[in-house]
Amino acid sequence: LTILGLESSCDDTGAAVVRQAGGARPEILSNVVAGQGALHAAFGGVVPEIAARAHVEKLDHCVERALHEAGLRLREVDAIAVTAGPGLIGGVLAGVMCAKGLAAAAVKPLVGVNHLAGHALTPRLTDALPFPYLMLLVSGGHCQFLVVRAPDRFERLGGTIDDAPGEAFDKTAKLLGLPQPGGPSVEQAAARGDPARFAFPRPLLDRAGCDMSFSGLKTALLRARDGLVAAQGGLTEGDRADLCAGFQAAVCDVLAEKTRRALARAGTPALAVAGGVAANGAVRAALEEAAAGVRFIAPPAALCTDNAAMIAWAGLEAYRAGRVDDMGLPARPRWPLDAASRPMLGGGK
Ligand code: ATP
Ligand code: FE
Repeated sequence: LTILGLESSCDDTGAAVVRQAGGARPEILSNVVAGQGALHAAFGGVVPEIAARAHVEKLDHCVERALHEAGLRLREVDAIAVTAGPGLIGGVLAGVMCAKGLAAAAVKPLVGVNHLAGHALTPRLTDALPFPYLMLLVSGGHCQFLVVRAPDRFERLGGTIDDAPGEAFDKTAKLLGLPQPGGPSVEQAAARGDPARFAFPRPLLDRAGCDMSFSGLKTALLRARDGLVAAQGGLTEGDRADLCAGFQAAVCDVLAEKTRRALARAGTPALAVAGGVAANGAVRAALEEAAAGVRFIAPPAALCTDNAAMIAWAGLEAYRAGRVDDMGLPARPRWPLDAASRPMLGGGK
């Protein structure tokens, strides 16, 4: 099976071709990602209207490049998979419309994919990972533990009750005047910092269960920053590094401890991690340690952040299971991965 996948739910436009022959290892034949960082830089965050327009402009070109790099014509793919939600609705609509156009023109089946399922199934693209496994999905908009039992069966064990860690990384960068997206800049600064200088909170560790909270951490960081600014009139490079290191260490501690509890509850033989924050080296190391005794899988960083290969792969898993959508496939701003919203892949009714 050869699947063309499209992604446009946030600020990255992507097109990719993934192939799996029988039970062989899946292959990523191409994975084109066009970021929009520069377009949004002046606004300190993603502007949905600008993102949607940019997706409309870039999608065709990304699809052409993805097919070209894969050495294929559109008529040679078996199906077209597209992120049908959740995400910024303008961008999701742009992708769904583009995919419908391609499917109609080439007379190919259309498969609507849940973006979160794309993240959550990525470890099966990069590794021979059987079901079930525990997934920590930790991204810009989400943070949850899922027991993944099948391509369309996700059981939620808990998650953040407020902010997602990626959002907290982005806000931390903004508060400290570091470039967006915040994750990579905070990670870089943290590498030079002292994680023990500031005592940041580890919220909800005293409470049973797998729920997490990250909004208090943001407030603590703001207070520490304001304290330094009031005392010294500004921040030094060293202050910034120490604040980032302290913040990152707190995130790692919370994720690691809650992961231990989630593993104990899930009883699965493997822990996998995905989503943009899983690109963070310290987070990966903390989770690997928490996964002692079970197999640990963290896909390469470029497949943890938004990309279309994960959508093509989730589409391939869905298509192989016999799911396809018709031209009525809706674009959904919200589309939770829990049992109430099944089917998660395809059949977007
Ligand atoms: P969602 O998938 O929940 O809809 P999203 O698609 O915006 O949200 P992703 O692309 O999966 O999120 O991840 C982007 C987030 O990951 C951003 O918040 C970014 O700061 C964070 N991120 C990326 N790289 C790193 C890193 N090295 N360390 C920490 N965070 C990172
Ligand atoms: Fe994402």
